[in-house]
Amino acid sequence: MCRREVGMKYPYTLPELGYGYDALEPYIDEQTMIIHHTKHHQGYVDKLNKVLEKYPDLQNMDLEDILRNLESLNIEDKDKVQIRNNGGGHINHTLFWDIMNPNTQADESLKSEIEQKFDSVDNFKKEFSTVALSHFGSGWAYLARDEKGDLQVYSLPNQDSPYLLGHTPVIGLDVWEHAYYLKYQNRRAEYIENWWNVVKIL
Ligand code: MN
Repeated sequence: MCRREVGMKYPYTLPELGYGYDALEPYIDEQTMIIHHTKHHQGYVDKLNKVLEKYPDLQNMDLEDILRNLESLNIEDKDKVQIRNNGGGHINHTLFWDIMNPNTQADESLKSEIEQKFDSVDNFKKEFSTVALSHFGSGWAYLARDEKGDLQVYSLPNQDSPYLLGHTPVIGLDVWEHAYYLKYQNRRAEYIENWWNVVKIL
């Protein structure tokens, strides 16, 4: 689990990357990183803060808990949609930047868990890539822990977060076109294949 996600609270701020916008070249280009971080991610943060202005009770909750309990919260339906999209957007991108951080150390215990569940890390990557490639439209591919702690691979639409399902995301891949279109245009498969080069957690 991404350490930055723990205890994220209102008012939310755009997390610093901790590395340069050009650090993931040539796999993810600098221009995409700049726009993705300073425009897209910032937009989710701003809209999340905006919707939470009128809910002081939610301002004191961790974002993970808000998402886990979203359906049962006593707030307007249209605001649930806003939190789902923008709270998801914030938490998803925070994880995404972290697992690509060149300073991130490989997680050896996660790797051995993956080897047990998927036979090998390569096999896991293949399965994950297939899910990411076959996801229709905007969304994310995830490796997440379900309520029992078991690792699962699946995709979700839009900015939906595994927290909505009571799961905890471990790895997330953004397959929105804004994540790759400048460099890869319609070639999502090439983006996914190259993306593994910048995943530092494995
Ligand atoms: Mn994105």
